[in-house]
Amino acid sequence: MTNHALPSYLNAEDLGPWGQYLKQIDRVTPHLGGLSRWVETLKRPKRILVVDVPIERDDGTIAHYEGYRVQHNMSRGPGKGGVRFHQDVTLSEVMALSAWMTVKNAAVNVPYGGAKGGIRVDPKTLSKGELQRLTRRYTSEISLIIGPTKDIPAPDVNTNEQVMAWMMDSYAMIEGNLSTGVVTGKPISMGGSLGRREATGRGVFVTGREAAAKRGVAIAGARIAIQGFGNVGGIAANMFADAGSKIIAVQDHTGTVVHQGGLNVAELHKHVAETGGVAGFPGAEATQDRDSFWGIESDILVPAALEQQITAKNAGQIRTKIILEGANGPTTPEADDILNEKDILIVPDVLCNAGGVTVSYFEWVQDFSSFFWSEEEINARLTRIMQDAFNSVWEVSQEKKVSLRTATFILACTRVLAAREVRGLYP
Ligand code: GLU
Repeated sequence: MTNHALPSYLNAEDLGPWGQYLKQIDRVTPHLGGLSRWVETLKRPKRILVVDVPIERDDGTIAHYEGYRVQHNMSRGPGKGGVRFHQDVTLSEVMALSAWMTVKNAAVNVPYGGAKGGIRVDPKTLSKGELQRLTRRYTSEISLIIGPTKDIPAPDVNTNEQVMAWMMDSYAMIEGNLSTGVVTGKPISMGGSLGRREATGRGVFVTGREAAAKRGVAIAGARIAIQGFGNVGGIAANMFADAGSKIIAVQDHTGTVVHQGGLNVAELHKHVAETGGVAGFPGAEATQDRDSFWGIESDILVPAALEQQITAKNAGQIRTKIILEGANGPTTPEADDILNEKDILIVPDVLCNAGGVTVSYFEWVQDFSSFFWSEEEINARLTRIMQDAFNSVWEVSQEKKVSLRTATFILACTRVLAAREVRGLYP
C-alpha cells in the first residue's frame, strides 16, 4: 500500500492554505533524520469534524452555517487553537491553521497538540443575540470532541472574550460542571488570565526586538508598517510606539493610512472604535490603495491580518528589513523564496505570534490550580519564553543555514515526531 499525501476529501487542484503548509513540511523533511519516517503523520489531521450550525434569526427564519473543528495532532498534549468566525472560512483553511498550531505549540514548548475551529459566517451580519445562539449551538455540536484535557478552543479572527464566555457556559451546561479550563481567552471575571488580551501583540513585539538586535535595527525610530489593526496588529502598534518606533502605515479591511512622521496610535485606536476601521483617519497625511501598501519603504513590516497576503505577485515590491508575521500563514512559499533571496529576515508566524497561545497555557494552568498570577509575572514569563524560543530557532538557522521558518519547523517537528515515536502506534 502506498501512502497518499493528499486526503481524498480535498480538491487536489486547489489545496488552498493546506497546500501552503504541505510545502513547508516538504522543506523541513530532509532535516528530520530518522524521525522522517513519521512525517506523513504531519500531512494529515488526526480528526476532522464538520458540523451544521442552525440558528433562528431575529426575523423568525432559520439559517444554517458551516462549522469546523480540526484536531491536527495530539502527540504532545490535548488539541489547542482558536475559533475563527469569517465568511471565507474553508476546511482547507481550518486544516492549515490547526497544523500551524501543532508547530507553534511545539516551537514554544507548551504541552499541547494543534487544533483549530471556525464557522463560515460574517459576524457583522448577525445581531448580538444571533451571535450568541450561533456560538452556543456550535459549541454544543463540537462538545463531542472538546474538553479541558481533550481540546481547548480560544479566540481568533472575529471572536473575543464574550464568545469564549458563551462557549464555556454552553459546555458547562452540557457537562454539568464549571469547566473553566475548556476554553482560554475568557473574561478576567470568569477564569481568564491577566495579560491574555495583549499576549499575541506582546509576543510579536518581543520577537521583533530580538530580530532587530540581530539585524542591527534600532527599535527607537524604526519605521513600521502594519497590516491589520485588531488584537494583534493594534497591540503590537502600541508596544512599538511606546518603544519609540514610528508607525508609518496601517492597512485594514477599510483602507490604508500613512504618516511618514508616525501615526498617532492612540488617536487611531479611537477612530477605529468609532468608525469600524482606519479609513478616513484625520491624522493621516496620505492614503494608499490596497496593493501599493506593500511598496511602502519601512524597517519592519508586520502582516497581522489573514493568510496568503504576501504572494509571488507583491513580494518583489516589498522594501523592508524585517517581517514579523503576526497573522497565521501570511506569506506563501513562493513569496518566502523571493523575500529570502532579498535577505529580508522573516520571523515566521509559528514563532512570532505564539505569545497568545503561551498565555492561553498560563490561563489553563491557573484555572486548574484556581490560583491566579499577577500581570507582572505573566508578562515576565511570556517574555522569557518568547526570547528563549527565538534564540533556539536562531541557533538552528545559523547551524543548518536555513530560514527562521524552516528552523522553527525543524525544532517543532522534531519535538512532535519524537513524542510520536516514543509513544508508538496504537494498538
Ligand atoms: N488564535 C490564536 C493563535 O492563532 C491563539 C490560540 C490559543 O490561544 O489557543 O495562535
